[in-house]
Amino acid sequence: MTSPEHPAAPRNVIELHDISKEFTGGTVAVDRVTLAVEPGTVFGVVGHSGAGKSTLLRLINLLETPTSGTVTVAGQDLIALGARELRAARRNIGMVFQQFNLFRSRTVLGNVAYPLRQAGASRARSRERAEEALRFVGLADQARRYPEQLSGGQRQRVGIARALATEPRVLLCDEATSALDPQTTQEVLALLRRVNDELGVTIVLITHEMEVVRAVCDRMAVMDGGRVVETGPVREVFAAPQHPTTRAFVRSAVQASPLLDLLPAALRKHGVDEAVAASVLAEVGA
Ligand code: ADP
Repeated sequence: MTSPEHPAAPRNVIELHDISKEFTGGTVAVDRVTLAVEPGTVFGVVGHSGAGKSTLLRLINLLETPTSGTVTVAGQDLIALGARELRAARRNIGMVFQQFNLFRSRTVLGNVAYPLRQAGASRARSRERAEEALRFVGLADQARRYPEQLSGGQRQRVGIARALATEPRVLLCDEATSALDPQTTQEVLALLRRVNDELGVTIVLITHEMEVVRAVCDRMAVMDGGRVVETGPVREVFAAPQHPTTRAFVRSAVQASPLLDLLPAALRKHGVDEAVAASVLAEVGA
C-alpha cells in the first residue's frame, strides 16, 4: 500500500537483513548482520583481517550467496532474481578491488569499455562512455596505454573508471587503497569523494585502516568475528566509541595522527611540567 506520505521508493539504497554466510567447512564469515545504507552516503566498514568485511561486501552484489537473510539493493530483492535479472541488477553496483583486477592484455580504454560491451552496448557507445569515465578520473590521455605502463594510483583510477562505466548507483570498494602509498591513497580517496559528491553514487568501502574511514566516510560500521558490533556517524563513533574493538581502532587512528606528533613539543613550549606532560601523553597514547 502506498500513499503520498509513504512513497513506494525505499529510503535505503542497500538493506541487508539478518544476513549470514557460512562457508563449506563451517566458518561463519558473516553472522546475522542487519545493515542499511541511505542513498548518497559514503559508508565505511572497518575491522581486523578475518572479521568478515570482504565477505559482507561480496554479499551486497551476491558474489557470495548468503546462507540466510535478504539483500535489497535499489529496492530489488536480489536473492529473488533469476540469473538474467541479477546480471542487470549488478550493473547498478560497481566494484573496485585492492589489486585493481585489470586485464593486462587490454588497453586502458578496453578495460573501461569491457563491462559496457558485456552489457550489450555497441562498440561506439561503449567507447564514448568509457572515454567519459576516463575523463572523470583524469586519465583521458592514457586511454591507449596498457595497465602495466601505469602507476598503482593510475591503475586504481582505471579500476574506478571501469566500475563507473555502467553508471551504477552503488560502488563497492574492497580495500581499494591498501596496495597504495599514503600520498596515492589520499588521491584515490579524494577521487572517491568526487564520485560521491558529483555523481551522487553511494559508496560502501571496507578497510582495516581507520584513517581511511575518517578521511571519506559519513557513516561506519565496525565488524568483529562476523558481527557488526557498532555502527553510527563517523564523527560520533570517533568521539565516543562503545565497543572494545572500536576503541582499539579509534586509538590506533589517533596515534597515527600527525597532530599527536606535535604534542610533546607543544607541551614543552608552553612550559607544562614534565610529569604532567608525560601523563598527558600517556593518556592520549602518544
Ligand atoms: P576480512 O575481509 O575482514 O579480512 P573475510 O570476509 O575475507 O574477512 O573472511 C572472513 C572469514 O571467512 C575468515 O575466517 C576467512 O578465512 C573465511 N573465508 C573467507 N572466504 C572464504 C572461502 N571462500 N571459503 C572458506 N572460508 C572463507
